[in-house]
Amino acid sequence: RSNAEKFEFQAEVSRLMDIIINSLYSNKDIFLRELISNASDALDKIRFLSLTDKEVLGEGDNTKLEIMIKLDKEKKILSIRDRGIGMTKEDLIKNLGTIAKSGTSAFVEKMQTGGDLNLIGQFGVGFYSVYLVSDYVEVISKHNDDKQYVWESKADGAFAISEDTWNEPLGRGTEIRLHLRDEAKEYLDESKLKELVKKYSEFINFPIYLWASKEVDVEVPSDEEESSDVEEKSESESSEEEIEEDDAEKKPKTKTVKETTYEWELLNDVKAIWLRSPKEVTDEEYTKFYHSLAKDFSDEKPLAWSHFSAEGDVEFKAVLFVPPKAPHDLYESYYNSRKSNLKLYVRRVFISDEFDELLPKYLSFLMGLVDSDTLPLNVSREMLQQHSSLKTIKKKLIRKALDMIRKIADEDPDESDKDHSEEAGEENEKKGLYTKFWNEFGKSIKLGIIEDAQNRNRLAKLLRFETTKSDGKLTSLDKYISRMKPGQKDIFYLTGTSKEQLEKSPFLEGLKKKDYEVIFFTDPVDEYLMQYLMDYEDKKFQNVSKEGLKIGKESKIKDLKESFKELTSWWKEALSSENVDSVKISNRLDNTPCVVVTSKYGWSANMEKIMQSQTL
Ligand code: ADP
Ligand code: MG
Repeated sequence: RSNAEKFEFQAEVSRLMDIIINSLYSNKDIFLRELISNASDALDKIRFLSLTDKEVLGEGDNTKLEIMIKLDKEKKILSIRDRGIGMTKEDLIKNLGTIAKSGTSAFVEKMQTGGDLNLIGQFGVGFYSVYLVSDYVEVISKHNDDKQYVWESKADGAFAISEDTWNEPLGRGTEIRLHLRDEAKEYLDESKLKELVKKYSEFINFPIYLWASKEVDVEVPSDEEESSDVEEKSESESSEEEIEEDDAEKKPKTKTVKETTYEWELLNDVKAIWLRSPKEVTDEEYTKFYHSLAKDFSDEKPLAWSHFSAEGDVEFKAVLFVPPKAPHDLYESYYNSRKSNLKLYVRRVFISDEFDELLPKYLSFLMGLVDSDTLPLNVSREMLQQHSSLKTIKKKLIRKALDMIRKIADEDPDESDKDHSEEAGEENEKKGLYTKFWNEFGKSIKLGIIEDAQNRNRLAKLLRFETTKSDGKLTSLDKYISRMKPGQKDIFYLTGTSKEQLEKSPFLEGLKKKDYEVIFFTDPVDEYLMQYLMDYEDKKFQNVSKEGLKIGKESKIKDLKESFKELTSWWKEALSSENVDSVKISNRLDNTPCVVVTSKYGWSANMEKIMQSQTL
């Protein structure tokens, strides 16, 4: 094309495309849901803009917010069209090739180590999955602020952009034309496409139409005697007399033939799942809804969900999910760019999925959505962000989220003290779910204890850890307390780098001998955690490597202190006050003659190590 401008793909994007083109990945279906998801995003965007400016929608067909799929079997073209926001020339250049998103290299890396291509959408590069099935792709797009352009590429490192002077004007929106490879001919089959839309795009909130063929019976005049004979014979089976009557009236003879016509067939039901009563929604529907929200199309079920509505001053409906796995960048970007995974709708209209005001950071691993009737529709995102109702919504969401997590534990037979060995073999799909939750998201609960003073106690209930007595299993503070020895006032714990290291610690000698249980904290974040978690259910926490440990009767040591006074003062002198604060007789040891204990408010030895490794 004479007016085409050529561009090179950004290097990472080019690598990504190579991987996709050469992939032997068998589930090529995923491209369709990625395109539909992009179309849906583009429709959400124009609908959002139209809240404050009706003009953007234009008139006539342009006002219809829909997605249309069409096949050209002869030319082997599959096209997906939306009436969304569209892309300007600059958008096309940036979004489809020259600016790599943060997920691009992360995804390339994943793919090189045998990662699942299915997860492409989660990395923000779903568009390129079109090259699983096509060798040439055209993107025709019209944005309100620009002319209509065509982006095209054969995935050979370059793409071209031309002003569109030959296609039919789109009005507004985007049409993606896939020139299917020979191996991908199955996508020219209408029933295959219907099946895929059902499977992957059930929860898209815009109508999806397929230009579908339909066999219809049409009456055509029959000119040949022979064929009319045949017809007479077949009809005569039902009623001979009628035919005779027909003949008598001398009507022109006709015959019925099959003819193929086309019409737009609606493929999805756009009733939002969260507006339905929770009683009417099946587990399977929730699971599918989760998959579409999370762009996670593994077969894994979410660990839990909660679907509820809030009434009163602030009305909203919400669905929250605990994913089966933590997202790839959950803690990587925790302190800088972690975005909430919650979608905000106002009266069924999608507003944003980057609303950090709805959930605290530590709960950003949750997926879900909130639809509020109380929030105003026709204000800017910035205004909305400051709306007073958000605080109320946030508070309720946190409560519900923590309840939902506690329920995972309550329903998990592994968590109960009952002996389940008799029921061995009995299938319980809740079994082991809390351990799974803890392994994926335990750190988030700990960060919550640090950050959320208001819910600290609720979060502490969710803590799990191993102890000197837990026998390799996880246990909780409540269970620890139920096992405390008579007269034991404090909850004992020890911090370190691993359970194996801690088990050998001399700090445990005295406690073990007297049969006290000690919690092992082996995650670096635990040191910070314990600076915030001072007590639980009126019990104080005591780091057993720090001063202040009280076990057994103090009176017994009193005499010893007296008789060894000379030794302790000699020692204190010998070590000098720069090195130690004091030298004391204690009952915390058994075989080891002496041990270095840190002061109550000082850093533990483990904390010293953590700080050192951080400054290196
Ligand atoms: P993501 O959807 O996660 O942003 P994609 O690779 O699927 O990543 O899409 C890349 C970008 O291309 C989108 O963010 C969007 O800006 C643009 N885009 C893709 N498809 C469309 C479309 N149908 N309409 C408008 N913009 C689109
Ligand atoms: Mg996408």
